[in-house]
Amino acid sequence: MTKSIQVTNPATGELIREIPADTEEEIHQALKRGHEYFQEWRKVNAHERSRLLKAWSEKIQNNKETIAEVMTLESGKPIQESLGEVNYATSYIDWYAEEAKRLYGRTIPAASETKRIIVSKQPVGLVAAITPWNFPAAMMTRKAAPALAAGCTFIVKPAEETPLTTMKFIELAYEVGIPESAVQVVNGRGSDVGPLFTASDFVRKITFTGSTPVGKSLIKNSADTVKHVSMELGGHAPLIVAADADIDVAVDQTIASKFRNAGQTCICANRVIVHDSIAEEFAKKLTEKVKRLKVGNGLEKDTQVGPVINEKGYDKIVSQINDAIDQGAEVLCGNQYHADKEQGYFFVYPTVLQNVDVGMKIMHEETFGPVIPITLFKEIDKAVEIANSTPFGLAAYFFTNNYKVGAYLHDYLDFGVIGWNDGAPSAAHAPFGGMKESGLGREGGVEGIEPYLETKYLSVGL
Ligand code: ADP
Repeated sequence: MTKSIQVTNPATGELIREIPADTEEEIHQALKRGHEYFQEWRKVNAHERSRLLKAWSEKIQNNKETIAEVMTLESGKPIQESLGEVNYATSYIDWYAEEAKRLYGRTIPAASETKRIIVSKQPVGLVAAITPWNFPAAMMTRKAAPALAAGCTFIVKPAEETPLTTMKFIELAYEVGIPESAVQVVNGRGSDVGPLFTASDFVRKITFTGSTPVGKSLIKNSADTVKHVSMELGGHAPLIVAADADIDVAVDQTIASKFRNAGQTCICANRVIVHDSIAEEFAKKLTEKVKRLKVGNGLEKDTQVGPVINEKGYDKIVSQINDAIDQGAEVLCGNQYHADKEQGYFFVYPTVLQNVDVGMKIMHEETFGPVIPITLFKEIDKAVEIANSTPFGLAAYFFTNNYKVGAYLHDYLDFGVIGWNDGAPSAAHAPFGGMKESGLGREGGVEGIEPYLETKYLSVGL
């Protein structure tokens, strides 16, 4: 097991902080503490849990500027986006602070007058979460808030790249009186900590946001102790622009979807599928705007596109662009880089590629970078076929003002989150999650607390 974690700034490669990794024994003790404290936390009434969550949210908001700066330093995302993420993260705490009070059961008419049947919802127990670096705050609160609201205790292992934001959030939870055994953070490499979480009898649920291969291994490793699992995994979002779309809206929303966090989001548009008849106008308008995006250090206020997280991510993006170009794609803008492997910073300039063919690597692999590949279609069925030809099923987008086309696309796109004339569909009050290899379960909305609850029924003989 690694002994320490070095957190660096992706915009400069500089070391920000070195933090100790927890030992196997420390992690075991943390799990034991969370498991034992569950018996206390579940007794805290729902209104009090709600009050504590609201106080936590308010405290985070009061520290918003400091948190956003830490987030930008460790993740590279533009400061405006970090501020936006703090709001997004607290919106989950606010939502589940309310849902805590609405964990309704029901009564079922019995088949005999001498019986009563009562259904109640109870917390599953200790929840262990593993979170990614691209949304270090929101991917944690999406899990912690419903878990705590439901009466579960919670332990999180943040990504090695971005532990500082999470540590700050947990510190603020303690400051408002959320007990230290109810919510805990441990640090370490995923491959070290993951197996300790999955092997532990104390953990009743694993919740994860990250890559599909890691998600699959967590599901497999959870089988021996039959844990509940929630998985938010990779995406490969198609974005369809139909013949009758409002092109200006489609251009602006494509940019909003694609370049947030330098294209490092699991729901960002990854394959842009445009009707032949409007392709030229769409590509021209898109390229004009993409060229104007300001690339730079996220701490500078006017930066719109920051660095990509690390060398592995950078190499993948560059190899996808080169593969497309080698196979005949045309570069409309971008394909420029500002990177230094020695120093450890990696900027990819926003890139638009046309003449992209479904055989190219970029049409099969998640990119996680600021690149738009454009491919064309003539019949709407073909657009759906291209869109669905992936094992992923997280988000999809389409642009049309024809309600029949819209209804058809809604029905036949195999994705859990769909944006119709909307490139930014995420919201704490809506159920987010994927189909196929993009995941299991939903986060957000009334659905997002269900995975933290067991259903128990009581049959009373009178
Ligand atoms: P990425 O490649 O984008 O970093 P990962 O899925 O590897 O995506 O990382 C997401 C989270 O999963 C991080 O917190 C990371 O530490 C964790 N992780 C990585 N490998 C494993 C593993 N084998 N078991 C459990 N967690 C892991």
